[in-house]
Formats: sequence, C-alpha cells, structure tokens
Amino acid sequence: MKHLSTFGTSSYSLSDLQLFNGVADERVATLLADCPIICVSIGQPVLEAKGRGASLFVLLRGTLGVASDTHADMAQGGTLTILPGECVGELSVLDEEANPSDITALEECDLLVIGANVLWQLIDLSSDVARNLLRLLSFRIRAANAQLRRRRKVGEFYRALSMADGLTCLQNRVWLNDHLPRLIENAHAMDNPLVIVMIDLDHFKHFNDTHGHPAGDDALRVASMTLSDALRPRDFAVRYGGEELMVILPNTNMKGGVLVAQRLCECLQKSVVFGDMRQPLPHITASLGVACLEPGQNACDLIEMADAALYRAKDAGRNRVAI
Ligand code: GH3
Ligand code: MG
Ligand code: MG
Repeated sequence: MKHLSTFGTSSYSLSDLQLFNGVADERVATLLADCPIICVSIGQPVLEAKGRGASLFVLLRGTLGVASDTHADMAQGGTLTILPGECVGELSVLDEEANPSDITALEECDLLVIGANVLWQLIDLSSDVARNLLRLLSFRIRAANAQLRRRRKVGEFYRALSMADGLTCLQNRVWLNDHLPRLIENAHAMDNPLVIVMIDLDHFKHFNDTHGHPAGDDALRVASMTLSDALRPRDFAVRYGGEELMVILPNTNMKGGVLVAQRLCECLQKSVVFGDMRQPLPHITASLGVACLEPGQNACDLIEMADAALYRAKDAGRNRVAI
C-alpha cells in the first residue's frame, strides 16, 4: 500500500483529480497524503482489494468498470468505464451504504481510497471540495434520469410492439384483452354507448387456395389498411385472429355503428389487392356483425353478440352487415 505523497506531485497533481479541481488548500493535501493508495489487479473487484467500510475511490491509473444493466450501456458491453481523475463510491459514503460489489479493474489500477471520516473532514475543510462533490452528484443524477428516460422509452417501445399484429400492424389480441374491458368499464361508468363490429373475410380459404398464401397475406394487409383509413381517430381496429378483424367504436350507438359497418363493408369491397405482377386480384369481401353494449355486459358477452350477428351476415349470403 503506497500513499499519495510517495508518488510525487509530478505524477498526480491534485487539480488533475475531478473532486479536487481548483482546491488550493494545503490542509486538503495533508489529509489526502495519509489516504492509502491501493493497486488493484486486472479483473479484481475493488471491494475485495480495499477492506471494510464505505469509501470513495479516486482513480489515479488504469480503467475501472462499473457493471450496468441499462439498454444503452449494454450496447457498449454492459459496463460504464471510469478513467483516471474520476471517482466512484461517493454515494456509499454519503448514504452510509456498502460500496457496490460490481466495480472491477478493467486493467491494473491505482486507487486513492478516501474513507468516510476523511471525506467528511474534507467537506468541512474546503467549500471547493464540497462544491465539486455537489457538481459530481448533479452529474450522476442527470445521468440516472437519462437512464430512466431511456428505459421508459425502451419499455414503451416493446410494450407497443407486443400489442401490434406483425402482419397487419393492427392491434392484436393482447391489446384487445387489455383495452376492451377498460373501454367497456368506462362506457358503463359514463353511460356512453359503445359498438363493436366483428369482421370476417369471405371465402378466404378459397382466395388462398387460388392465389397463394402470400397473396392472401397481401389481401389481409389491404383489408386492415382499408379499415384503419376509414375509421375516426378515436376508433380502434384489431386483428382478432386469422382473417377475423374487429373494430371498436366508442361513443357510438347501434344506428351509428350500423352506418359505419356498412361504410366499411363497401370500402372493403372496393379495395384493390395487387398480385405479384402488379395485376389486381379479385376483390375481397367481408361479412360484418354489429353489437352495441347493453347494461351489465362484459367483453365476452359483447364479443359473443357480435359473433352471432356475424354468423347471421354469413348465413344471409356474405358481403353484408347484420345485427
Ligand atoms: P367464410 O366465408 O365462411 O369465412 O370462409 P373462409 O374460407 O374465409 O373461412 P375458413 O375459416 O374456412 O378459412 C379461413 C382462412 O383464412 C383459412 C386460413 O388459411 C386463412 N388465413 C387465416 N390467417 C391467415 C393469414 O395470416 N394469412 C393468409 N394468407 N391466410 C390466412
Ligand atoms: Mg372467413
Ligand atoms: Mg373466420
């Protein structure tokens, strides 16, 4: 174990160190001269090398790595690096928690170890040290806030991704299971009407068999886009499964819902699906079942009602709306 004074001022001048930048007080240098300097070998955890009690470490030589689990840091190998002149461990001293165990030497390091007592003495002695420490903490808080924002954005991105259907980009069943009960609860609470329309593409097996599965996928995409384009911003389009789609129309009564469904039925019939050679394929049509929320109904009841209406539309000859 060496001490700061034994390295000589040419190797480590105080002002090179982040925490002591602009500090000219001799008493600070005297206190630091008594602080141990430890050498940590490559790959060794700092905690293992330094002994008991929370301490602040000033890196004099080498590189330290602090393990991190954030997405952005993962992109850089999951480790934040600490370079000479920087310090770590200040939070452990201030909140009297143990130093984290995930600080490791990425190459052989010399560390000035400032124990909790000494750090508090330095703060009492020098307002410059206190100011530098505050600046360091505000930097850490900003970095932590940025990390939180990044995590939240990544979380939101994956959440949205998990609720969208990969083929059609409509909302999927996960979204429906999460949102429909809430929309229904809200409609009951506010005494607002709510309509759902169940939509099933007609003879779609035949479409696939005749034009191939990729053309069927194209047709599903076109049908989905047609629905999205025809709806108001406050409505929702969902891929219920296979070639079954659903739209949810908040604040809409049966009369309004039937009008919307008839418009959607016409739009689907007019939509154009292109084949491989940019030749339009035969038109697709759909059957639509409309159901309006009744008092006391839950999501299952409402879907069942719309499904029954859809079967009536199929039975009545397809390419039409039924209630
Ligand atoms: P109906 O008019 O009675 O609804 O007849 P249908 O042929 O549409 O109904 P059926 O349930 O017999 O067939 C549904 C077809 O939808 C069969 C299935 O291969 C096709 N399908 C479901 N999901 C997809 C998909 O993601 N892509 C493609 N290309 N086809 C799909
Ligand atoms: Mg079908
Ligand atoms: Mg079907």
